[in-house]
Amino acid sequence: MKEALNLIWFKRDLRWQDHAPLKLAIADGLPLLGIFIFEDFYSQDPSWSLRHWHAQYHSLVDMQATNKQAFNGILVLEGDGHEIFSEIAEHYIIKGIYSYQETGEDLSYQRDKKLAKLFTEKGILWKELEQNAVQRGRKNRIDWDENWRNFMSQDLDQPNLPAWQSCSPTLKSHLKSKFGISPLLQKRLKNWPPNFQKIGESAAQIRLEDYLTQKIYRNYGAHIGMPYESRRNCSRLSPFFAWGNLSIRQVYQRSMRELENSPFPRDLRAFISRLHWHSHFVQKFEMEESMEFKNLNPAFDSLKKESQPPLVEAWKVGQTGYPLVDACMRAVQETGYLNFRMRAVLVSFLCHQLWQNWQEGASFLAQQFLDYIPGIHYPQFQMQSGCTGINTIRVYNPVKQSLEKDPEAKFISEWLPELGELPLAFKHQPWMMTSMEQSFYNFELGRDYPQRIVDINESGAYARDILWDFRKSAWVRNENQKILIKHTTAIRDPQQRSKKIIQP
Ligand SMILES: Cc1cc2nc3c(=O)[nH]c(=O)nc-3n(C[C@H](O)[C@H](O)[C@H](O)COP(=O)(O)OP(=O)(O)OC[C@H]3O[C@@H](n4cnc5c(N)ncnc54)[C@H](O)[C@@H]3O)c2cc1C
Repeated sequence: MKEALNLIWFKRDLRWQDHAPLKLAIADGLPLLGIFIFEDFYSQDPSWSLRHWHAQYHSLVDMQATNKQAFNGILVLEGDGHEIFSEIAEHYIIKGIYSYQETGEDLSYQRDKKLAKLFTEKGILWKELEQNAVQRGRKNRIDWDENWRNFMSQDLDQPNLPAWQSCSPTLKSHLKSKFGISPLLQKRLKNWPPNFQKIGESAAQIRLEDYLTQKIYRNYGAHIGMPYESRRNCSRLSPFFAWGNLSIRQVYQRSMRELENSPFPRDLRAFISRLHWHSHFVQKFEMEESMEFKNLNPAFDSLKKESQPPLVEAWKVGQTGYPLVDACMRAVQETGYLNFRMRAVLVSFLCHQLWQNWQEGASFLAQQFLDYIPGIHYPQFQMQSGCTGINTIRVYNPVKQSLEKDPEAKFISEWLPELGELPLAFKHQPWMMTSMEQSFYNFELGRDYPQRIVDINESGAYARDILWDFRKSAWVRNENQKILIKHTTAIRDPQQRSKKIIQP
């Protein structure tokens, strides 16, 4: 007779603490097998890159280091989820599969649909739990904020790890021989790229504690927009959230305790408010998954932008001739991180100054971000590109941003060494140099650093005129109403609706 067991399926939740599915699965008492799969389909996902698998691999390495015994219950596999679960079901009675709900791209949604069918056919219960207060099946935001606060205030779900009853070694070795992670992949993932911040639950806990107890959040408000200073004064917790090394609830509760005696409550409150934004954006994507491909506001489909591959290419390789833009692109490629404002500047440059559709760059930037979360990335990308209709249009002037946010050009100098010897003013605007000045500094525009690929005075004005005008159309405004009703805590009475709309 077949033996019965439960499975705990780890995905973007690579931690031991505050883990509801793990807690439930252990408490059930049946033999339990943990699995993590490097799934084949990701190689077809244009937003996916090796750095994301690096982050998952090293999060697993950290879990192994912090609790070797519990980690013995987990198998790290490579292949197709459907095949792997079918194989287990062939030999064992799978009573339940425990996991978090995943608010992912279309490919993972298709995978989930296929698996849900398999599990129903085999009579397996798939217990998917809510993550970070993001709710499945919602039609609007009524009471959503209240639910978020309740969720964040509940006790952490701490699994009783010593009670984990591992499943038979025979099954484990069988699965390992068939789907074990290949030496080739292991070799590619083994070394953590040294330019990336450390990943894993241990590093996450250390960063969180340091950030709060050493008051690194001091100046959060002043530095959040600055590309250089934000790298220290922002929390840098985003990769930990992306791979689930921390839950939002852990950080929320720990930060609220810190707030009780904080000498800098304003900064800390500003940081805490972002935790709410995190769930807000993921909820939006959960309810509007087509945002990966299509405009949230369909009226913007009629806004014509001609694809210009050479311009997009210059943006991608950090050769636009605008130092701040190029420094941002090179920094994110090297380190996987960029602060919020500079991400917005990159998107605005692509979509406004170069007048390209957001789809030209969204997957590319997702590949660069070590903290890539589809639920934040796509809604933010669309918002910054100015095509949601409901958000204000921000056509960033990269020179103004450079002078304001990197006044001493510390960030530019770090990422554009070719401008390193120039006086400060020219680091922001190298095209201002006369030919005599260029020869004086042994620098030639077009040879040492590119000429500007567009004139932002013209391109910015063009984008602003068209977008603000377009926004006034009845079609856009009509679609806006539908978006606001669905995605904001707008007053439900239509007569009152226009008076009060709350959104982050
Ligand atoms: C085009 C674009 C794409 C983005 N893509 C991602 C992404 O893939 N993954 C991601 O985590 N963030 C994304 N963001 C949001 C934001 O830039 C990052 O969350 C933030 O820079 C991470 O740095 P931090 O952890 O130091 O943030 P902190 O400022 O310390 O904030 C703490 C946490 O709050 C959340 N948060 C902060 N700002 C935002 C925001 N604007 N929207 C939603 N949540 C926020 C994050 O979870 C963050 O870790 C994107 C922003 C833009 C403009």
